[in-house]
Amino acid sequence: MSDFTSLGPGREFDLVRAMTARWGERAFGIGDDAATLDVPVGEQLVVSTDTSVEGIHFRREWLSRGEVGWRATVGALSDLAAMAAKPLGVVVAIVLPSVDVDHLDELADGIGEAAAASAAPILGGDLTAGERLTLAITVLGSAAHPLRRSGAKPGDSLWVTGQLGGPAIALDALYGGHEVPAEARRRLARPRPRIQEAIWLAHAGATAAIDISDGLAGDAQHLAAASGVRLTIDAARLPLISSASPAVAQRSGEEYELLVTGPSSFAVGEFEQRFGLELTEIGTVDGRHTGVEFLVEGRRVAPPRGYDHFSR
Ligand SMILES: [Mg+2]
Repeated sequence: MSDFTSLGPGREFDLVRAMTARWGERAFGIGDDAATLDVPVGEQLVVSTDTSVEGIHFRREWLSRGEVGWRATVGALSDLAAMAAKPLGVVVAIVLPSVDVDHLDELADGIGEAAAASAAPILGGDLTAGERLTLAITVLGSAAHPLRRSGAKPGDSLWVTGQLGGPAIALDALYGGHEVPAEARRRLARPRPRIQEAIWLAHAGATAAIDISDGLAGDAQHLAAASGVRLTIDAARLPLISSASPAVAQRSGEEYELLVTGPSSFAVGEFEQRFGLELTEIGTVDGRHTGVEFLVEGRRVAPPRGYDHFSR
C-alpha cells in the first residue's frame, strides 16, 4: 500500500492532489509514506476490504460516478458495522480508465461524502491507470467487543434493520429496461452503513451480526453456519419497501442492513426514534440443527435456490 503522496510527479500526482484537495479535511494524515493511527486503549483493530469492479459490481450507465464512489465506500464501511466497530479510517485504491480522468472529482466526492457520513477520515490510498474503473476500499475500525457471526445462541431472537427489497427491485427494473421506482433506486445508489445502529445493538445485548450484502437468505446461512444454529425466518414479518414481496426481500443483495441475533427485548421504540429506522423481529434461533428455514404460510421451507417457494 502506498500513500497518495508517494506517487511520482506528473499527471498522476496532479490527479491525486486534485482528489485530496476535494476531500479537504476529510483526508487526514496524508503526506507520509504510510498512515499511522491510534487504536483506543482496550479495543481491537477491526479491518476489512471490499472491491468494486465496473461490469461486475456496477454498470456505469446505471449509476453516476459519485454514486459509484459512495456505494463502494459504504459497502466496505458496512463490514465495520457488522462487527459493531467504530470507523478509524478509510484507505482508497482506484484503478482509473482514461474516460474517467476528467470526472475524478465526482468519484472523489462520492467517496469523501460516504466516509464523512460515517466520521471516517481518508488515510491514504493508491491511484493507477487501468481498463476498468475499480475501487478497492479498505476500512479500519476498532471495538472493545467486536460482534461476530458466531455468537448466536439457541433462544435468541432474529432481527433485521431497515426495510428490504430496494436494490433487487431497482436492479430488476434496470435489467428489464423499465423505469426504476425512486425509493428503490435510492436504496441501490445511496445505501447507508448502519454503524451507530450496530454499536447500539451491541450495547443492548446483540450476540451476532452480519450485514446483508449477498441477500437475506444467503447471509442468514452464513450466520447460521458460523454459529452452528438454525435460524427460522417468518416470511410474513419481513420489513419491505413498498412494492417488494418477501420473495424479493430474501434475495435482495447490497442492502447493507444488519441481520442480528439477540434478546427479544430490544427497546425497539428507542432504536427507531434515535435512528429513524425500523428494527424488526423476524424469527428465532434454535439448536436443533444448523441452517436456515423460512416460514411461509405455516410451512417450513428451505431457503430457495431461486425463489420459487414463495408466491409473489
Ligand atoms: Mg459483510
